[in-house]
Amino acid sequence: MGKRYLCDYCNKAMVAAPAIVKTHNKGLVHQRLVQEHYQQFKDIETILVEESKKKPCVRFASGECKFGSICHFSHYTVEQIQAMGEYVASKNRPKDVIFPSFEELVLKLMDEKSNKRQDSTDGITVMYDKNGITHTFPWTYNTILDNYPDLLPPSVKRLKIEDFEDAKIETWG
Ligand SMILES: [Zn+2]
Ligand SMILES: [Zn+2]
Repeated sequence: MGKRYLCDYCNKAMVAAPAIVKTHNKGLVHQRLVQEHYQQFKDIETILVEESKKKPCVRFASGECKFGSICHFSHYTVEQIQAMGEYVASKNRPKDVIFPSFEELVLKLMDEKSNKRQDSTDGITVMYDKNGITHTFPWTYNTILDNYPDLLPPSVKRLKIEDFEDAKIETWG
């Protein structure tokens, strides 16, 4: 018994003679099994592109097509191709982009506006003196520092409204 050749696709052993292997490789069964082997590694996009170019196989529909995946006609039903199309479309749709409704957009805009309004009073300190004049300072105080008034340098100390009693300041800024 001479050397044996094993076709991995067909799981079939044969005499390792070039002519025999060549004939085997040309055979329909072998080609079908090779095709089916690679079909399982194809992604669904590739299958979809290939299958949507083909016309449906009439013989396969009646269970008589012997060509399998090397058939020039599609062995997928219209529904299957459609389902693949929907799957591919949903897969390619970015998941984090959810289009907000008009109502959501308006609410978001209003929310941003009210946040901005808050922000504009955040960095300032407002005081009223006894003459009803509003003093606005473009800074804020850390309330924790109020507990240590004697430790603080004058520039960090919280200004009291009394500090302005005698000051003749007309305008700020
Ligand atoms: Zn083979
Ligand atoms: Zn067919």
